[in-house]
Amino acid sequence: MGVQLLGDTTVGKRWDVSAQLYEDACAVIPGGVSANIKYFSPYPIFMERAHGSRLYDVDGHEYIDYLLGYGALILGHGHPKVVSAVMHQLLENGTPVFGTPNRIETDMARKLVELFPSMEMVRFTNSGMEATLLAIRVAQAYTGKRKIAKFEGHYHGGYNQVLFSINPDLERAGRAEEPTPVPESLGLTSEEAENTVILPFNQLDACEAILRRHADELAAVILEPVQGGFIPAEASFMKGLRQLTEELGIVLIFDEVKTGFRVTLGGVQDIYGIRPDLTALGKVLGGGFPVGAVGGKKDIMEIMSPSGARDVFAFVDSPADAKAGETPPAPGTDPGKQPASKRRQVLFHSGTYNGHPTVLAAGLATIRVLESPGTMERLMENTHFLRKQLENIYHKYGIPLQTVGMGSIFSLVITERPIKNYRDLAAANTALRKKLDYELLRLGVYTKPLNRYSMSVVHTKEDLHKTVEAHEEAVRRVMRP
Ligand code: PMP
Repeated sequence: MGVQLLGDTTVGKRWDVSAQLYEDACAVIPGGVSANIKYFSPYPIFMERAHGSRLYDVDGHEYIDYLLGYGALILGHGHPKVVSAVMHQLLENGTPVFGTPNRIETDMARKLVELFPSMEMVRFTNSGMEATLLAIRVAQAYTGKRKIAKFEGHYHGGYNQVLFSINPDLERAGRAEEPTPVPESLGLTSEEAENTVILPFNQLDACEAILRRHADELAAVILEPVQGGFIPAEASFMKGLRQLTEELGIVLIFDEVKTGFRVTLGGVQDIYGIRPDLTALGKVLGGGFPVGAVGGKKDIMEIMSPSGARDVFAFVDSPADAKAGETPPAPGTDPGKQPASKRRQVLFHSGTYNGHPTVLAAGLATIRVLESPGTMERLMENTHFLRKQLENIYHKYGIPLQTVGMGSIFSLVITERPIKNYRDLAAANTALRKKLDYELLRLGVYTKPLNRYSMSVVHTKEDLHKTVEAHEEAVRRVMRP
């Protein structure tokens, strides 16, 4: 077969079955993966089973899992409370999905309103990406403005307007104080680039200059309050950004898809004491099932309410009715600039699976476990313990490793330079980190190479000790002449 063995070839046939499965997948799935981020070179490892903190691959190896479904599985794999909530919906309530409003949507919405200081109302989506997409469109409709500002290095999902400057080549990314939008995909248009203003994270003065210049056109500023889930915003930066957006009439959107429930149960906004206008959630909220949510100020959220105006798919009774409901655009005018007809005075948001009762049951079960006394505290203590131990090991071998993070997520960054934004990461020794990560896969510690570490409440002290030992062995192996 065409693919080489993972890492160095002297390891022999360690991931032979994965290699074969990858080749099979490539024949029918582009690149063999359903999400581009799941690929790594020369081929990703295929998993077969999971339990608690452990993953088991198709070649019979066991791993302590720190990827945890890209952070979604804060209770680990197959937590009994989550499984039983799902089974209850399927067996007792009799269906995966009602296709109608249901109690659990309101239960979850109430829970979020109770936990997140900035939320007065909530709508559910099927992914984090859909949540940020909805939040942006709500902001555009609410303000009547078109452009958005996002930060260099921040990820909000894989759709056109936010697929700029996530991991840009610095040669193309412009000045640090005024980054230029760099497309991250084929298929993006120059219009989309023009409508996406890029901001430098943790640099308030530079942000202020850019925001003031574009204020009349900017509907929203969207950010990960903790970049990539691991680089926190500075408190003064966050405060300044809130004041500026308020003053300039720009909707402030926190993308807490990664950070939601992973620092405190009220998101990082609770820690900073900042109330964004809108917040996007995902990951932990679904307990391992696909989910997203947008929550925020009632005044803004109500723009989606269909009561009092007709839905876009509403049945039209008679031609006269249709006429009353429609205002045909004047010839030659941009339909986007037309006043909405009565029928379309609502921001349209829909989806077959929105508010999915099985998914929300899994999410509510997850939140209830996290709310049990001492659980979040233990999770934070364990994370702190692992970070400290890892730093000690690497420093013992003269490697300037920092664990950069907040709450139950961190990343391993090899540099002495303080890490405050995307450009600081350029100083990191990613080649060494990559070598270590491949060794760690052989030693039974799983995350996708170069990815961050997400912790769960089911990682035991023994798991943490084993992880530290594996790191020490990985360091020894990569330092061997
Ligand atoms: N925003 C952030 C901050 C994320 O981390 C992610 C996913 N990694 C998304 C949005 C998109 O979420 P999803 O993958 O559920 O569409």
